[in-house]
Amino acid sequence: MCALLRPPALSRFVSVRFKSAAASQSLATKRGRDLRNPSSPDFLTFEDPQAFKAKSFWELVRALGVFRLCSFPALVNHCGKFVAGETEGEIAESMQKMSSLGLHPMLAVPIEEDLGESTGAVNNVSIDFAFDHGTLYIYSERRYEDNLTAMLACVHMSHSKGWSKNPMMQLKITALVSPELCAKLTSLLKTEQYDLNLLVRAMDGEEVVFPALNASENTHLLLGLQRLNKIGEASVGKVRVLVDAEYTYMNPALSLVTTAMMKKFNQRSAWIWNTYQCYLKESRNLLLEAIQTSVDQSFCLGVKLVRGAYMDKERKLAEKEGRTDPIHESWERTNDSYNGCLGIMLNLISEKPDRYMIIVATHNEESVRRAVTRMEELGLHGDGSSVCFGQLLGMCDHVSLTLAQHGFSVYKSVPYGSVDDTLPYLVRRAQENRTVLQGIRKERDLLRRELRRRLKEKIAGARQEKPQKSV
Ligand SMILES: Cc1cc2nc3c(=O)[nH]c(=O)nc-3n(C[C@H](O)[C@H](O)[C@H](O)COP(=O)(O)OP(=O)(O)OC[C@H]3O[C@@H](n4cnc5c(N)ncnc54)[C@H](O)[C@@H]3O)c2cc1C
Repeated sequence: MCALLRPPALSRFVSVRFKSAAASQSLATKRGRDLRNPSSPDFLTFEDPQAFKAKSFWELVRALGVFRLCSFPALVNHCGKFVAGETEGEIAESMQKMSSLGLHPMLAVPIEEDLGESTGAVNNVSIDFAFDHGTLYIYSERRYEDNLTAMLACVHMSHSKGWSKNPMMQLKITALVSPELCAKLTSLLKTEQYDLNLLVRAMDGEEVVFPALNASENTHLLLGLQRLNKIGEASVGKVRVLVDAEYTYMNPALSLVTTAMMKKFNQRSAWIWNTYQCYLKESRNLLLEAIQTSVDQSFCLGVKLVRGAYMDKERKLAEKEGRTDPIHESWERTNDSYNGCLGIMLNLISEKPDRYMIIVATHNEESVRRAVTRMEELGLHGDGSSVCFGQLLGMCDHVSLTLAQHGFSVYKSVPYGSVDDTLPYLVRRAQENRTVLQGIRKERDLLRRELRRRLKEKIAGARQEKPQKSV
């Protein structure tokens, strides 16, 4: 499929590139700024401490204090900087603050499961039963139904409060379908073909029988697809739902069900988005395949582009199982892969901004600069209709705030809930994002510089005031 796509697609990208060079000239002049030229004052260096100008003095002090506390792992649970709060009131307050800084929230319910973590794995489902409002739930289904309730509340909160023009939220499929089944489906997909239409019919409630699954697995998949259908129905026309990518032993199954959701809900615009992890050697092919499928099946494609969070575990597992490492051998290769996929998407968007959309989900300044430069060249809007940026709450605010101040649409991934719910999620994110946490050093230095600048300003102001008072 990819081989078929590549030649015409690439030639189209080349033609776009020529066209865009002329377009960009006029755009830069029209906007009166030049984000592409390193010697221009508009060039994004992410070195200006005034990126924090919208933060109050005490917010700067708090941020620095939090970074200090977070150097002690046991204190991470006090980091309100990384979590929106627990009650609706607390969350609303955090979101209003975020809006005042020109940033948008992307809510994330902190539920996720890995293999062996489900309390009632799909193979044991016949053991526990429970009645609720006259409905018989198998115990493990009840847990996933509870997760569905939380996800639907997240859909509602994301759009009903008016925090953002184009609301977004994150969704983990393993909160609604057991990871064991996702892993089994993934291994089946190596030999079996699962027709998208079959999945869509199952989402609509038809009693479909899927090949190679036993009866309880089939039932669980049907119920899981119906749960995903409810998310799709609640969000279409209101909230963009960004499905997270997880481990390679599950991802093909996650992509399959996500593609089925896209086929059903993305006819007019991209409401369901998938995530592409550029640390994977196969990421470019996966993206090109997704683009081809979106053309063949006539749906809009929304892409969350990330480098990938599970590098260490993926590598260890591949080594243990004697498989080839699925991850690029170096960070530089991952960067090339990221920038390549970014280029493909931006070129496509410049041709069909209503059919293709992307969130450039990275803290990497170089990738952000590349995206901004290419957007300027292609004349793409930064208003978030087709291209936006994403960072994690509390991480690299100097990047997020600088982008927002230049008029780009920026989303912060915001986990919310009780400390008990969010702590395991945060610890995982912290482990996965060690390199990003190192980048915090720069943010901390910029915060210190901004604080020093304000203190100097205050002292200078006080000195000027003094003689007047004594007159
Ligand atoms: C809004 C948002 C949503 C996200 N959603 C997901 C998701 O659904 N799934 C997911 O997996 N991740 C997700 N992430 C996390 C993301 O994948 C990265 O782990 C994180 O953002 C760090 O990458 P970076 O580009 O920001 O930073 P950088 O510091 O530029 O890159 C660090 C990343 O580079 C890669 N890397 C580092 N060293 C090497 C090496 N030696 N060889 C090869 N590659 C290397 C790793 O992927 C590492 O995480 C999300 C991030 C954001 C901001």
